[in-house]
Amino acid sequence: MGRKTILIAGGAGYIGSHTVRLLNAEGYKVVVLDNLVYGHREAIVDEGVELVIGAVGDRELLTKLFEEHQFAGVIHFAAYAYVGESVTDPLKYYRNNTAEPLTLLEVMSDFGCKSFVFSSTCATYGEPQKLPLTEDHPQDPVSPYGKSKLMVEWILDDCDTAWGLKSAALRYFNASGCASDGMIGEDHDPETHLIPLVLKAVKGEIPELTVFGTDYPTPDGTCIRDYIHVEDLATAHLAALRHLIEGGDSIQCNLGTGVGISVKEIIDIAEEVTGKKVPLSYGERRAGDPAQLVADPKMAKDVLGWEASRKDARSMIETAWKWMSASHGGRFSE
Ligand code: UDP
Repeated sequence: MGRKTILIAGGAGYIGSHTVRLLNAEGYKVVVLDNLVYGHREAIVDEGVELVIGAVGDRELLTKLFEEHQFAGVIHFAAYAYVGESVTDPLKYYRNNTAEPLTLLEVMSDFGCKSFVFSSTCATYGEPQKLPLTEDHPQDPVSPYGKSKLMVEWILDDCDTAWGLKSAALRYFNASGCASDGMIGEDHDPETHLIPLVLKAVKGEIPELTVFGTDYPTPDGTCIRDYIHVEDLATAHLAALRHLIEGGDSIQCNLGTGVGISVKEIIDIAEEVTGKKVPLSYGERRAGDPAQLVADPKMAKDVLGWEASRKDARSMIETAWKWMSASHGGRFSE
């Protein structure tokens, strides 16, 4: 049998580009569809990966792509992911994250392509009622971002019933770190995530890191999150894709380490890794931030045979620092 061809929507983004490299290394033929609004052309580093610039809502383009290639499956990363912006501009999120994928799913249905890996999020759970979060925890998202993703989970479920679409909705916890070989990494503009901001503060690119809240009911008063290395996320997508292509059932599962790490602990590790002090200020809690979000990662292990290979945040911070302290300063040049 020849190489399987996979369509990766949003493959020029942060998590997508790391997954593209893994699939290419594993012998898949990869076609990336990305509108480059937040993705970077330069994040596609491998020869042989085809980059098509366009939108997942462009039916004509998708039809052409599905006519040209026999896709064994689709991995869908393309989405907006700024929680705060989703509150002020919800329609942008419902349009891009919820409505646009409908076209992609319709074209998949037209061509009989029935394996779909979807970037969902732990934000679909909302405020945790019990920790660690298991997949059967009630889903009551606080933000339009979380809702925009949860609606797609529902849609995927209905497509399974109606036409046998098999999907994996992967609920990411805190994606972090960069490629171990330093080739690609995280380059968001604007950047809102903790680890890159801590490192930007170390480098003097921002005056200081503001810790959002020190009065949470946690041991050191700062929020606890489950930081999962982006290369571990990539291996999880590969495992999910294989599961579906080999005839596995649809699944909704957490992708996390099961280990909770506080903001203060991240700062301490960053100081060890960089050998420098993180300039700090202490601010108010950020609206919508739960005190703790930690995954129960058991289902991914049981069903996909996947578990995180890196569970403490050190390797996330080390690889992020390698990327950010390189001559390009952690930026793709575009
Ligand atoms: N955080 C912080 N200062 C910042 C950015 C984030 O204290 O400048 C905290 C935030 O309150 C949360 C944790 O760091 O508890 C992780 O936030 P991030 O935005 O990276 O991811 P989220 O958990 O919101 O998806």
